This record gives sequence, structure tokens and C-alpha cells, in this order.
Amino acid sequence: VSAVEATKAHLDRISAVDGAVHAFLHVNEQALETAAEIDRRRAAGDELGPLAGVPIAVKDVLVTEGMPSTSGSRILEGWIPPYDATPVRKVREAGMIPLGKTNMDEFAMGSSTEHSAYGPTHNPWDLERIPGGSGGGSAAAVAAFEAPLALGSDTGGSIRQPAHVTGTVGIKPTYGGVSRYGSIALASSLDQVGPVSRTVLDAALLHDVIAGHDPHDQTSIPDPWPSMADAVRRADVSGLRIGVVKELDSDGFQAGVRQRFHEALDLLAANGAEIVEVSAPNFEYSIAAYYLILPAEASSNLAKFDSVRFGLRVTPDGGGTVEEVMAATREAGFGPEVKRRIILGTYALSAGYYDAYYGSAQKVRTLVQQDFANAFAEVDVLATPTAPTTAFKFGEKLADPLAMYLNDVATIPANLAGVPGISVPSGLAPEDGLPVGIQFLAPAREDARLYNVGGALE
Ligand code: GLN
Repeated sequence: VSAVEATKAHLDRISAVDGAVHAFLHVNEQALETAAEIDRRRAAGDELGPLAGVPIAVKDVLVTEGMPSTSGSRILEGWIPPYDATPVRKVREAGMIPLGKTNMDEFAMGSSTEHSAYGPTHNPWDLERIPGGSGGGSAAAVAAFEAPLALGSDTGGSIRQPAHVTGTVGIKPTYGGVSRYGSIALASSLDQVGPVSRTVLDAALLHDVIAGHDPHDQTSIPDPWPSMADAVRRADVSGLRIGVVKELDSDGFQAGVRQRFHEALDLLAANGAEIVEVSAPNFEYSIAAYYLILPAEASSNLAKFDSVRFGLRVTPDGGGTVEEVMAATREAGFGPEVKRRIILGTYALSAGYYDAYYGSAQKVRTLVQQDFANAFAEVDVLATPTAPTTAFKFGEKLADPLAMYLNDVATIPANLAGVPGISVPSGLAPEDGLPVGIQFLAPAREDARLYNVGGALE
């Protein structure tokens, strides 16, 4: 197939199903033109990479030159960025065709896309259910065959948890593995950009395109990476030591989620992997620490949305002081979850409470990192179910922020420690017929191990 045919097929699919799924916030009008250019280059004998001509959906957290980039927020409505985020630039340079921008919880805060200012995305497996979040749009686009690949961002699970509930593959690379330049920051010590796909090999090919050093991101790792695609092609788990985190293999997880998790482990054992139990006693404090560290960093990152530099500006009664315009803009432009976290974050950082909240959370973060270090002294990778339940119904957790936050119990530890994680489909839960994922975690910089074990399950 030519790039134009592939792009046209996906644009047609978007026209046919996105009215019901609502994975996209914006469809790229230039897509066919870009595809035609790739076909011309191929005909002219240009050396093009393995993903040249392949369409890709881009989470709206990544800025795109000439295309709206809202991060799911009203406050950025109408803003057209003047440059491409590095991962977007890299996929374009690889000859891939950006199809458009995908829906997400506002500023990537959420686990269901219900916090998007533009309405939720629907899970293609059951339109009454959530597609996960915050990257529900990217995962739903891939699950609904609207895009073969997508870019996501993962601060506490926003690539892996949507993958789990939509039957797709999602990877959070090692912190610093993929540039965040042009990724609208949520929590800078936690954010990572990564691939969403239908197969582990597809994710690996995209990972190879977007990974690597970027001088524009001070946290970017300068060393080169091994080929993730090779790790999938050579997948072999014989002798691999897989640690099951006993604290995350508990009654708190839906029966069908655990059943498919253990079946996947049995399959790996049958292929020569050694399955052992490990303990990570501090993981249970991860959510509490994360929901202090994240709001603290987010409250600082979101201060730049001040009505002067980007997007929306609300002028009360046609006038007002700078402070009044700022206050009116932020009041109108931010949704309730964003306001909740800004208030939490500024409180946790305030002089009188800093040590008690932010300081304690940072200590817990160190303990979680030590849990990983102890576990990885025993095993090559860790395994957990990706999330406690299959896709839940709209509205089920919306009124109770804590219930929403508990979804992230298995995904957050990786972000606190900066280690890479993958969610791979492990079947459908027998009780509801909905997709389930298994998560693997590896030491920092050992992303290839995830592709090895994920590849072995495919
Ligand atoms: N659900 C998490 C949160 O609400 C994850 C967010 C993310 O990874 N962007 O913070």
C-alpha cells in the first residue's frame, strides 16, 4: 500500500466511527498531502525508514506546528503552536503521517478522559465505558483501527492504563529516554512520552523512532539506545527471572484481571521463564506520595497559563487589571480537576506545610525507588496486573476523586522511580468480556527487556 492509500483508509475510518468514539479533537487536513510527498520520495528512490508512510495519531499534550494543541483544556483553545514537539518532529522525519490530535483528560489529569474539556472518548469495546486516561483518545484511536499507532504521555499511567482497558499495547519508556520538548508539562519529574500500538513489534518500531538524546530537554539521556525492534524479533524468555509483586496480586484486583494475569505468567513459565514472588512494601504509599508530588509540580507548571502568553483571555466587563484578567481567564479556562490539583499543590508547597506534605512525599518516593532496587537485585523484570479493573462505566468514579486515583495503584510506582513499564494485552476478563493487560517493569535504561518479554507473549 502507498502512504496515500494507508492515510486515506484511516481518514475514512475516522469519518465512519469517530462520531461514536470521539478519539480525535482535530484531524490533520494536511495528512493526504504529506502522504503524497512520502510516495513521491519513495518513487524517487529516497531511503525511507520502516515506518515511512505509516499514519499516526498524536496525543493533544504534544504541540504540533500549525495544528491546535489544547492538552484537553479550554485555556488553550485556539492556540496554534509555532513548532513541533521533538517526538512529533521525529515521527515526521521518519516519514510518518500525523492523522490528528487525540482527546485526553485536561492537562493529562485523570484516568477516564471524562476530565477533557471537550467531552469524553468512548471505549470502542463498549461505548458506554471509559477508554482509560489520560490518553484515552490515543488508545481508543488505535483500538478502533482509526490509527495503527499513536503517541501518548505517561505521568502516572496514562499510556499503560488506557492500553489495559482497550486491549492495546502501551509503553512508558525510561525517564529521559524520549524527549519531552514540546510536551505540555504536567509533572516534570514524572512525565514520559511513549508509544501506543496494537502489537509489541509496532510499539518497538515507534520507540526506536522517538527515543534518543535531545539537547532541548535537560533530562534527556545522552547515551544511545539498543534497537527495541530487535529485542522483539529475538524475544526469548528462557532463564528470565520474573518477579510477581505480591502486594499488587491481591483481592483489590478484579477476579478476571488476576486470572488473565496468572495465565500470562503460566505461558511465560512454559517458555522457560522463572516466576518468583517479590515484595515491594512501600508501593502501597505510592498513590499518596504521587498525589502530593504531582499537584505540587502541576501547580507550578500551570502558572504559565496566565492569559498573556497563550490561548484564552477573558476580560471582565471589557476591562480590569492584569490580576483580574488572569483570575477571570483561569476561572473560565480550567476545569474542576485542574483547579482541585492546583489548590492541593500550592497548599502542599506552602511554607508552613512544605515539610509535612511535599517533604514526606519525597521521602516515600525514595523508599519506592529502594523497593525497585531491592527487587531488581533478585529478578530481571517485575510483573503486575496493569490496573485493578476492566473499563468502568462513565460517571462511576467521576464524583469521587479518590476512587479515580486508586486506579493508578499499579502504574504510579514506575513513574516515581523513573523505570520503564509496558502493558501488553492478556485476554478478556471472563466475567465481562472486556480487555485486560499485564504490566512488566524493568530497571532504568533496560526498556529492551520489556520488549523481549512482551514480544514473547505475542
Ligand atoms: N491517572 C493519573 C493522574 O490522574 C495519571 C496521569 C498521567 O499519567 N498523565 O494523574
